[in-house]
Amino acid sequence: MKLDDVLKGMKTVGIAGHVRPDGDCAGSTLAVYNYIRTYYPQTDVRLYLEPIPNIFRFLSRSEEIRSTYMDTVQFDLFFSLDCGDTGRLGEAAKYFETAKHTFCIDHHISNQAFAEVNCIDPDASSTCELVFELMDEEKITKEIAECIYTGMIHDTGVFQYSCTSAKTMNIAGILMQKGIDYPKIVDETFYTKTYAQNRILGQALLNSRLYLDDACIVSVITREEMNRFGVLPKHLDGIVNQLRVTKGVKVAVFLYENEDGTFKASLRVNGDVNVAEIAVSLGGGGHIKAAGCTLDGPKEAAEQRILAAVSEKL
Ligand code: 5GP
Ligand code: MN
Repeated sequence: MKLDDVLKGMKTVGIAGHVRPDGDCAGSTLAVYNYIRTYYPQTDVRLYLEPIPNIFRFLSRSEEIRSTYMDTVQFDLFFSLDCGDTGRLGEAAKYFETAKHTFCIDHHISNQAFAEVNCIDPDASSTCELVFELMDEEKITKEIAECIYTGMIHDTGVFQYSCTSAKTMNIAGILMQKGIDYPKIVDETFYTKTYAQNRILGQALLNSRLYLDDACIVSVITREEMNRFGVLPKHLDGIVNQLRVTKGVKVAVFLYENEDGTFKASLRVNGDVNVAEIAVSLGGGGHIKAAGCTLDGPKEAAEQRILAAVSEKL
């Protein structure tokens, strides 16, 4: 199946990704959006996403993203990208629910195939990798290639994580031949951190503690600390990966406090523990090696709850 098969005859098309968009979410939704804007100029296409991190603003047509949800359209076709369930669509879920046709493109193992047409592969490195396969290679412009490449490097940690396959690398090679400035994309969107981000990473490492015979590392960042360092939740990306590379650790847990006093948890693993199961048992979801959920406060209760769930799996 190809995108062109489902786009035929569709006059209004909506696209959305998950709340708190990351690189794969921004990249995959903008890739599909740019594809439709380029090859279906008669189609009314709208992309709904919460505001994306500044590092992704260089992606083509990111200024056309809608972050308000006032439109009262019934879409002929609605795309859900990089979402394991409709709850992850946030406010855009209403458009998905009322659309005439729905299409889900995703790579989360917890995805229950909730759309009319589903393209779900938990073995894919990223939703962007699936989006690549749904497009005709020769129709992938440099701008679309930038979107897809960005998503792939973010979900693979620049082709390091085990979700990276030979196919991932082959696709990356094809994208490189589209003339994209890949070292710049890698450096400016993945590695570069602001001074404040580096300082809060330092604080998170200082706050970290080892539990369960040193097999689990946990770090918590409070609202007060985020205010003190002048950072927002979207600036905390990457901290959990730094915790994960601690020698001897099997599971890494990073928690940060939401405005409502709940705690957002990120889980990463070395080896064969399935953190998607842990996250699902706590009301979240994700991948076998990278998952997340939200826990009630206070801080000590959230830590205890996640440690208990991790301890059951270790
Ligand atoms: P992160 O830790 O980077 O926020 O998320 C890791 C993975 O788990 C991502 O693929 C993300 O989509 C998924 N994930 C994180 N938090 C949640 C959540 O609360 N619910 C669900 N269903 N998935 C989540
Ligand atoms: Mn993804």
